[in-house]
Amino acid sequence: MTKPGSEILRALPKIDELLRREEVRDAGAGLAADRLAEAVREAVADLRGEALAGRLTGAQLRARLARLPEDLRLRVAGLSRSTLRPVVNATGVLVHTNLGRAPLPEGAVERVVEAARGYVALEYDLALGERGSRGEHLARLGALLFPGCSLHAVNNNAAAVLLVLNTLAEGREVIISRGELVEIGGSFRIPDIMSRSGAILREVGTTNRTRLSDYQRSLSPATGMILRVHPSNYRIVGFTGSPSLEELAALGRGANVPVVVDQGSGSLLEMASVGISDEPTVGEILESGADLVLFSADKMLGGPQAGILVGRPELVGRCHDNPLSRALRLDKMTIAALEWTLQRYLAGRGAEDIPIQRMLREPVEAVGRRARRLVKELRKISGDRVTAEVVPSEAMAGGGAAPVTGIPSRAIALAVKGLTAAQLEERLRLAEPPVITRIAEGRVLADLRGVQPGEEKILVAAISAVARQTRPAGDGPVEESL
Ligand SMILES: *Cc1c(COP(=O)(O)O)cnc(C)c1O
Repeated sequence: MTKPGSEILRALPKIDELLRREEVRDAGAGLAADRLAEAVREAVADLRGEALAGRLTGAQLRARLARLPEDLRLRVAGLSRSTLRPVVNATGVLVHTNLGRAPLPEGAVERVVEAARGYVALEYDLALGERGSRGEHLARLGALLFPGCSLHAVNNNAAAVLLVLNTLAEGREVIISRGELVEIGGSFRIPDIMSRSGAILREVGTTNRTRLSDYQRSLSPATGMILRVHPSNYRIVGFTGSPSLEELAALGRGANVPVVVDQGSGSLLEMASVGISDEPTVGEILESGADLVLFSADKMLGGPQAGILVGRPELVGRCHDNPLSRALRLDKMTIAALEWTLQRYLAGRGAEDIPIQRMLREPVEAVGRRARRLVKELRKISGDRVTAEVVPSEAMAGGGAAPVTGIPSRAIALAVKGLTAAQLEERLRLAEPPVITRIAEGRVLADLRGVQPGEEKILVAAISAVARQTRPAGDGPVEESL
């Protein structure tokens, strides 16, 4: 607009001068002095760059300078706020990996806070006054939940798979069906983790069918284990087949080769009553003869991020003693949360006290009642600017469990006058707190199965705020500034 004049550059204040100004120091209260100086320098450099490029008139430059303390305040506020923003999960996917998987039960949260705040007897035997075992807190509960078995927990299930492969099959062959060489969520691929563990992949059968005889023929003195992997995020349908776990287990026993099941989203509670009939519990998998079962603690179990190994004490012991276990070990906060979670299952209270299990099991009529209340509330507040109606929806367990089985649910189909579905979805996503919905058939759907108790208010507030900030088309500009 104007030629880069020395006049404009002269108008730029000195950094020191800016830093002495009270409103700049106030704006930078969340930053150490040297960091604030750096932020001020950056802001001025940005202005200088734009001025030199001729993109600012003198008046614009003065306006930007006047706004500098406010700009700094926003920059600094952005740096001090957590980017782990709490969100409302109205997607209908309960174990949503991108949204942090299982919300922790309140009791587990309290245990985490308590453990985090001070010293705890993490590896200290209080009775003897000497070093104790970090693993014992969870192992003693595992022995009660899975009689005759041992339990060991590491950072996540991917770590559990790595640890077991390395412990039981380094330099040896792992027999696995071609239909189970899966990729789970981008970075976890069975063949890759296998090669990193030092185990040798011995794939058998075909993508859709693998027979017991395929496994049998591949057994040799080089075999370290037979691995069965839950195909998690996909299903092969049609002409398919694989031996039962009982058959595989018998084969393994006969050949003295451990049979390991990576169950991914292992559940301790039956899933048939929520319409998911092909997911046996971890206990049932052990009863079918698996020597080891591996699963995530933050999927259907509903606890913190961790990976759990349960099974034959001798095998679990070897995994525990592997030096890799030290690199994959849990911290005190995770142990605290997982301990509480397992204790609820021991108390027979998993279905009631673990949010993921509660959400999964909430009768669809109850979800519908919550949806209808919400619609009524919206009508009261937003009048005819918002259209909302309760529609049938299918929620998903998520986390790889039952990828093709929908759980009957209810959603609110939403529209706001003056906004397209994509615009409405975005406004809700950018709300405070963000509300994550999905678009189906041109409508924004907010599925209520994953919306936590007390969050309905947030949903109503977010939707009515978006409606208030939007004027119907034809009424002047389509939107006011947000
Ligand atoms: C989810 C999953 C994993 C990875 O578990 P994380 O806890 O995410 O590390 C491994 N195997 C299967 C079958 C899974 O479903």
